[in-house]
Amino acid sequence: MSIVSLPPSPLQPLICDEIEAAGIQLFIKRDDLLHPLVSGNKWRKLKYNLLEMKRQEKGTLLTFGGAYSNHIYATAAAGKLFGFNTIGFIRGEAHTPLNSTLAYATAAGMELHYLNRETYRNKDESKFVENLKSRFQHCYLLPEGGSNEFAVQGCAELVPEINIPFDTICAACGTGATFAGIIEGLQPHQKAIGFSALHADGYFETEINRYLNLASPTAANYSIFYNYHLGGYARVTKELVYFMDWFKDTFDIQLDPVYTGKLMYGIFDLIKKRYFTPGSSVVAVHTGGLQGLEGMKEKMEKCRQ
Ligand SMILES: *Cc1c(COP(=O)(O)O)cnc(C)c1O
Repeated sequence: MSIVSLPPSPLQPLICDEIEAAGIQLFIKRDDLLHPLVSGNKWRKLKYNLLEMKRQEKGTLLTFGGAYSNHIYATAAAGKLFGFNTIGFIRGEAHTPLNSTLAYATAAGMELHYLNRETYRNKDESKFVENLKSRFQHCYLLPEGGSNEFAVQGCAELVPEINIPFDTICAACGTGATFAGIIEGLQPHQKAIGFSALHADGYFETEINRYLNLASPTAANYSIFYNYHLGGYARVTKELVYFMDWFKDTFDIQLDPVYTGKLMYGIFDLIKKRYFTPGSSVVAVHTGGLQGLEGMKEKMEKCRQ
């Protein structure tokens, strides 16, 4: 198993009237182009975990996710690519035929197990974890979303790849590990803005303190917007779908409806409200997740009617 370092993802300027009128510059960091299968932030989150797994001489990675999880998909792909075994504990009941995410994971060699919603919710409790550890001693256990200190370390590498001076960097938050890494990678004069993909006011401040080992709420140079989840995790609205379609037409960049669609929707709302100081330079991170579009297609099509 050899973990190659990928070349930096491209940084691309976004140019349109709305951005020009606000007097700012907006760039998009194309982590969606990092790798065709191990996409976006999930690659960055896996990198140091795979190195740690190798150090521990484990040949199987066991992890968790929802039935449409980008992390499950990326982990299965990485297992096939680098030649290690993968086990996925999936939230909810088994459904046949498998949806596109799980069909891909299985085809890539991932072994699937299912946890009912209650068990899944309690999967981080010590009793469950201890039991799992003893049953799967040969496995490297990776939390949901691949989120842990190694993930944070990998995501921090995104920031120094940006080879232009910038003031603000924006990213979507699911567990917050990616955003914590970005904060870690900042220079003192730079600021990060997180956009929550879930209806969970105040959740990420605690999580970020935990990931960054900060004792208390700090004057860390970041803030979080909780008002752009548009109905909650993986919910879509007409406005979101119309915005994503406009974005695709204008910039020829596909967004995903769960994370990056809401991120860019939020950024453009802030641009319209003149939130960003004129003259400032803003970077938005496209964290990928496009495999998830398949499972959202129907919901999105309904919004277009
Ligand atoms: C998983 C994911 C996120 C959220 O990352 P966290 O580290 O869990 O906050 C953001 N964007 C995309 C596309 C993702 O797949």
